[in-house]
Amino acid sequence: MQREYQKPRVGISACLLGERVRYDGGHKRDAWLVEVLGRDVEWVPVCPEVEAGFGTPREPIDLVRGADNTIRLVAVDTQHDVTKPMQRFIDRRLEELAAERLSGYVLKAGSPSCGLDDVPIHDDGRNARSAETADPADASSVNPANSESSAFLDSGLFAKALRSRFPNLPIEDERRLADPERRRRFVERVFAYHRHISATRSFENAGGPASESREGTK
Ligand code: SF4
Repeated sequence: MQREYQKPRVGISACLLGERVRYDGGHKRDAWLVEVLGRDVEWVPVCPEVEAGFGTPREPIDLVRGADNTIRLVAVDTQHDVTKPMQRFIDRRLEELAAERLSGYVLKAGSPSCGLDDVPIHDDGRNARSAETADPADASSVNPANSESSAFLDSGLFAKALRSRFPNLPIEDERRLADPERRRRFVERVFAYHRHISATRSFENAGGPASESREGTK
């Protein structure tokens, strides 16, 4: 028998809850998420880099464009390519998250794993500054115009796969949620999504056909 969820379940980059999972052993606790939104939702914390086995503390990583135009995840100092272990984690974890019946997701801005759309893609990782080491309060830290080796901005690997797997799921990052209007719209969308999947579930439990379009069941 499947578990019933009273509150919306919302995925979140674990460091935003204050978990010490960042490359430097620190966190990025977000007071509004923890103390305000956290009263009304059930968090499902995920740290892609820790769960992929990179450990804490760890060498920071960057997104780097290779000669064949593919985007790789590369350690800043050693240039060790960690794309494959991250991809294996993503494939596994997204299937697990499909069973969590999430109603939303909050990602950590600027991270090469979790960043929604503001992660510098470097042509040369040797000179790149890790996006995760950048100060999120400093907009220039993720601005390619301020980085000689950055070509443009894109999503982190986990964030990109998450959006592709759950295209209708409300997803934001903590930096964009600092805007009150964007915050209000996100909360509305999360609760609307929660009502939708709860109604779909009730219909199915009553003997109706399973929804083919429901995310998380494909
Ligand atoms: S941004 Fe993502 S990968 Fe980096 S510490 Fe936070 S949860 Fe982990």
